[in-house]
Amino acid sequence: AQRWKAQLAMTAFKEDQFPPQTLPEVAFVGRSNVGKSMLLNALMERKLAHVGSTPGKTRSVNFYKIEAEVDFFLVDLPGYGYAARGFKEKEKWAKLIEQYITQRETLQLLVHLVDFRHGLLKNDQELQEWISQIGIPSLVVFTKADKISKGRHKGMLHSYIRKGLKSIEVPFIVSAQDKSGVGEFRQFLTQYLNR
Ligand code: GDP
Repeated sequence: AQRWKAQLAMTAFKEDQFPPQTLPEVAFVGRSNVGKSMLLNALMERKLAHVGSTPGKTRSVNFYKIEAEVDFFLVDLPGYGYAARGFKEKEKWAKLIEQYITQRETLQLLVHLVDFRHGLLKNDQELQEWISQIGIPSLVVFTKADKISKGRHKGMLHSYIRKGLKSIEVPFIVSAQDKSGVGEFRQFLTQYLNR
């Protein structure tokens, strides 16, 4: 199996703290608590992202520098859809995500994480609409697959596809807990950047 060498390169709370656009980037986005941090750690095989921190707390954009066949940044965007904070605070996160997505010329792929148990909720669908309008390629990755029995995976995947989703590939189904699908997904990302 191929491995990545990973390190945290930058934590940005504001747009002007984003690093120079020197490397291709793959950004991860999803609702808070979708399992983004745990999946990033599983991909990097290092515990760099904080798992299970207070939902909605991570409002920074974290840039992880990955050394692989191609060097790139894995970009951890703040989780959305957490209601307990004030409207102003929510707007700030949304703005940071929006600035990143609309202005980053080195962004090659947006990985949209969705909890496999829930499928695409309203704000996931809104995000899909918006990113497809901007024209950024996105890939849906279903998380926490270990919470659903294997026998139901195919049926659930197809029902989500039938309901409509925008993804450059058939969505990956992964579990950061038992690592299923993680190696294949890591390999896909490396190949995608190498294309
Ligand atoms: P984030 O807010 O999207 O970064 O989500 P985290 O990675 O912090 O995970 C949120 C919660 O879901 C934590 O309690 C994790 O232990 C749990 N979790 C994350 N990934 C998985 C997974 O693949 N399987 C299971 N069963 N739980 C997970």
